[in-house]
Amino acid sequence: MKTIGLLGGMTCESSLVYYRMINEMTRKRLGGSHSAKSVMVSVDFGEVEPHMERGEWDRVLGTMLDASRAVEKGGADFLVLCTNTMHRFVAEIDREIAIPLLHIVDATAAAVKKAGLKTVGLLGTRFTMEEEFYKGRLRERHGIAVLVPEQEERERVHKVIIDELSRGITKRESRDAYWRVINGLARRGAEGIILGCTEIPLLVKPEAGAIPLFDTTAIHAQAAVDLALA
Ligand code: GLU
Repeated sequence: MKTIGLLGGMTCESSLVYYRMINEMTRKRLGGSHSAKSVMVSVDFGEVEPHMERGEWDRVLGTMLDASRAVEKGGADFLVLCTNTMHRFVAEIDREIAIPLLHIVDATAAAVKKAGLKTVGLLGTRFTMEEEFYKGRLRERHGIAVLVPEQEERERVHKVIIDELSRGITKRESRDAYWRVINGLARRGAEGIILGCTEIPLLVKPEAGAIPLFDTTAIHAQAAVDLALA
């Protein structure tokens, strides 16, 4: 079994879910009292988040590179960034460490393709929805068309992640707002919705008869276990 390297803390709410899932999935595969071999380096989101909001990406990158090196040094065989947003730095991280990185977009794209879908809606932080690192990879590497919410909706979706979900708060009104955004994307032609922020699955769950949701936390955790046990 390989050792899974987790870069966590972004936020701790979803890092907990990753840790629980990789262990449960490993036990399901191997049975008995088996669990995953892992090392986690967890950053303080309270230090990272203000830099993100102010667009001070050099500061954020420095933290990501330090943490990635620490994961490698801790004995990990590959790196799992437990956040969608920080995948904006995969090129820089790849150059910094010798172990491979398990990309959340590639794992998610495989699930979307397996479901036979060609056009998806994307929810995530403002950065994930607006910048090219996520949509571009889905489109160019995987041939998946991506729709994002309108500007005002994107701000609401982002604010709920940062002000509520990152702090362990889930509100009914925010869940209802998310479903309105999801239904709007479906009306515009989305056949499925990528929950492209690792905290969103804490708020929005699949509903019978509704549009398929792609939980990037669960998909990424499963891909990590598959790679660890390959
Ligand atoms: N966990 C989040 C993500 O998947 C967002 C929190 C953050 O901004 O790092 O993008």
